[in-house]
Amino acid sequence: MTQFYPNLLAPIDLGPVTLKNRVLMGSMHTGLEDRFFNYGKLASYFAERARGGVGLIITGGISPNRRGWLAPAGGTLNTRLDVFNHRRVTSAVHREGGRIAMQILHAGRYAYHPFQVSASSVKSPINPFTPREMSEKLILETIDDYARCTQLAREAGYDGVEIMGSEGYLLNQFLCKRVNKREDRWGGPIENRMLFPVEIVKAIRKSVGQDFLLIYRLSLLDLVEGGNTWDEIVTTAKALEAAGINLLNTGIGWHEARIPTIVTSVPRAAFRATTARMRKELRIPVCASNRINTPEVAEDIIACGDADMVSMARPLLADAEFVNKAATGRADEINTCIACNQACLDHIFSMKRATCLVNPRACHETELVILPSQNKKKIAVIGGGMAGLAAATTAAERGHDVTLFEASSAIGGQFRMAATIPGKEEFRETIRYFDKRIKRVGVKLKLNTKIEAADLSTDFDEIIVATGVVPRRPAIEGLDHPKVLSYAEVLAERKAVGSKVAVIGAGGIGIDVSEFLLHDADQSIESFEKAWGIDSKVTHEGGLTSPEKHPPRREIWLLQRKPAGKSMGSGPGKSSGWVHKIALNQNGIRMLGGVEYQKVDDQGLHIMHEGQAKVLPVDNVIICAGQESVRDLLPVDEAGKITNARYHVIGGADFAAELDAKRAIQQGTELASRL
Ligand code: NAP
Ligand code: SF4
Repeated sequence: MTQFYPNLLAPIDLGPVTLKNRVLMGSMHTGLEDRFFNYGKLASYFAERARGGVGLIITGGISPNRRGWLAPAGGTLNTRLDVFNHRRVTSAVHREGGRIAMQILHAGRYAYHPFQVSASSVKSPINPFTPREMSEKLILETIDDYARCTQLAREAGYDGVEIMGSEGYLLNQFLCKRVNKREDRWGGPIENRMLFPVEIVKAIRKSVGQDFLLIYRLSLLDLVEGGNTWDEIVTTAKALEAAGINLLNTGIGWHEARIPTIVTSVPRAAFRATTARMRKELRIPVCASNRINTPEVAEDIIACGDADMVSMARPLLADAEFVNKAATGRADEINTCIACNQACLDHIFSMKRATCLVNPRACHETELVILPSQNKKKIAVIGGGMAGLAAATTAAERGHDVTLFEASSAIGGQFRMAATIPGKEEFRETIRYFDKRIKRVGVKLKLNTKIEAADLSTDFDEIIVATGVVPRRPAIEGLDHPKVLSYAEVLAERKAVGSKVAVIGAGGIGIDVSEFLLHDADQSIESFEKAWGIDSKVTHEGGLTSPEKHPPRREIWLLQRKPAGKSMGSGPGKSSGWVHKIALNQNGIRMLGGVEYQKVDDQGLHIMHEGQAKVLPVDNVIICAGQESVRDLLPVDEAGKITNARYHVIGGADFAAELDAKRAIQQGTELASRL
């Protein structure tokens, strides 16, 4: 029998436990761990991933004490009462044959409350509170808190703990001169700065003995000024090894770093070389992380000897069955994480429960339940964009007889266009996933089929209208001038665009189009490092060097009618917006808000701006002014209400404003789960 991914799926002996494979589900805060009444949901979420075959699950961060809470009343494990909740999680995972370790995370100066503490009283640029410097007494108490928390984790049934020491949290703050300005035995040279984490590991070992899995997550690249050098990082790793950890997990970049480390434009496995260097320094196994999202990439990392394990957090949110699909030769059925952050990190930053754009069941396993239908129906779905695809495949999975009509020659809708944007190539994976799923669940796909209202007479029990959107054509004089192009003509039809361009509309698509026009064809890891000034050998502090500068490929004006606020050029994503903005600024883009459009002619685009008439001397004007719903097939009354109960409307056809794939996939899945 063929063995798929033989290196990735080989067992690994970590000392206290032997794992069935080398896939570690990395820690990811979901919001469920913060409230005791959500532990049942948390248990189901992890149990589904354990059933899906992952070697080891790491929970979201649990604080060892109240000062370490990420936000007020965050998840903790510091009393016997807490043990009961955690046991629900560990039992559920063990029942499925899985292994689970709890992450202990003290937020330090990233804590979002006024009781935060750190190595020194140095405020973080991403937090309004200034931390109090920890006294010697508090440091010693905190070491005890870590040890007690680990003992309780063992009582709760965890197979081990991971000490969170990267991404700029408390222990990372002690390790680096950026925050650690102390002059006592906990500050100064690296041997002093690393004393706190090393003492924590020793205290944990003393309290739980040798037979309990202990993982430390260490920052290999801080990517901030005042971060550590390679020698300091290796010295720390060796000291942690000597103190008794079983596995070194790796982290890249502090949360306040202004270099992208996980968004979709970061090349896959961009940081594997740094992990490979660390592996050569240690005897214990080392785990690679960041932007690893397919079994092929993960297998290659292990096969090349760059790491012993591979951590994937978001990819396991996107597909709980990732490992089982890979192991049984069904990797093409994996619902791949596209690194958009829209439903996971962006939700957490907005204090909402995490889920996944491509998998709305993530963290909602007990609420969005897809069961076989007791009443088989004949269902028509019109439109093969994200909403239609989610509805059609979910309905067919439930046993319905589903026909999906798509007017164009391919599925994917707006997502297909998004996939053409440099740095959004991952979006193609979602289209591949649905293409495969359509075939697997037996949806009858009719491409190049434009449906008219008359075609939908009485043949179908349910009709799902997912006809999407058309680009809005604003009322501006001269819009029929040859220099005016729609975003679809630029992205999908690849019409030629000149060197001076005005983009009308600075929403998500205006930003995408600007990036497309400025983009450098080289997407290699080397080019990514040069563009962002990453020194992966960490010869400089924090692994920072100067970004390589190139003359911009085009002169672009990005325009909107609203006043230009701070967020102009960032787009909708909280955790990815700053990346777009920096990239656009580096290319000299000019962003103008408060613009009144007057006309387009041979001279260019005429506007009023700050009370003055101006002409932007551009070769092309590209319209990215939002969309309007296509609802022709819907039987509606004068108020727009649907008059026939067989009809349902989802996605952009339902509501064009703020349309995104997250809402489309969720709406399609939820509707199909009820029919
Ligand atoms: P959008 O985000 O709603 O932006 C539309 C832009 O057009 C705005 O800047 C708006 O600014 C302008 N506009 C609206 N009506 C106009 C008119 N009549 N004349 C001139 N300008 C007008 O829409 P979009 O850029 O088409 O994006 C569509 C959806 O896809 C959005 O919800 C977006 O979140 C999503 N998307 C997401 C991403 C992502 O990376 N997550 C990327 C692309 C798209 P003013 O009204 O101020 O002029
Ligand atoms: Fe990945 Fe986006 Fe899903 Fe987050 S929301 S897990 S980044 S696909």
